Amino acid sequence: KLASREFHPENTVIEISAACVDSGTVKIGGEDVVMMAGPCTVETEAQLMTAAQAVREAGAVILRGGAFKPSTSPYGFRGMGEEGLKLLTKARDEFGMAIVTEVLTPADVALVSEYADILQIGTRNMQNYMLLDEVGRGSKPIMLKRGMSATLEEWLLAAEYILAQGNPHVMLCERGIRTFEKATRNTMDISAIPLVKKLSHLPIIADPSQGTGRRDIVGAMSLAAIASGVDGLLIEVHPNPEEALKDGAQSLRIEQFQDLMPQAVMVAQAC
Ligand code: PEP
Repeated sequence: KLASREFHPENTVIEISAACVDSGTVKIGGEDVVMMAGPCTVETEAQLMTAAQAVREAGAVILRGGAFKPSTSPYGFRGMGEEGLKLLTKARDEFGMAIVTEVLTPADVALVSEYADILQIGTRNMQNYMLLDEVGRGSKPIMLKRGMSATLEEWLLAAEYILAQGNPHVMLCERGIRTFEKATRNTMDISAIPLVKKLSHLPIIADPSQGTGRRDIVGAMSLAAIASGVDGLLIEVHPNPEEALKDGAQSLRIEQFQDLMPQAVMVAQAC
């Protein structure tokens, strides 16, 4: 299979342009652990710019932010749509960061690709095969989140859909799975990280924000993911989590992200 290490023994390295790094290119799947951070959802220009500036200054090189949001409740905030994408590109211009944002439907792939540097496929869409085919026909890097009830085999087969259409730039993202435990929103499957590394050459990212649903343990799980060999982290940061329109409980405060970054660098260097 195209995603398997047997087929492709070397690690896949995905290169993303980002003006904020000296070389102008961020490598995902290379030596460094790549920090992706920002708000769960783009809410206002001030919220996004404040978060982007703070995470950039702390060392993040890729800005996350949802413009098209999947929402468990139909009454939840569904995102700003194209307006949100425009704000993300404004932040990219201002801070030199690359952008990762979710695409929800095959019909939106062309539009979101005009703005994003990495297209995120969310947990709810991991087995949306029409969407996987559509992003596979393009050449934008894809971050494929693990379905909340998906086995590693199902997840890698979903990646296979994208690869089989000709797009080789696929990274995986462990974001927690559904278990009987209610103390966390999801159970962060740390064991998936070294296992995926054995099974596949694709880079793997960890999302401890969705993976736990609780900002008090996002830091610990970030460090655990780095120690387990992850290629990058995707972390939600909000200037004022109490006021967040979505997922405030799992969003780090800016100071928490600033505290976490040097610890992350230390663990990465030790590993
Ligand atoms: C997100 O990262 O914004 C998101 C909705 O994540 P997930 O698909 O993992 O729930």
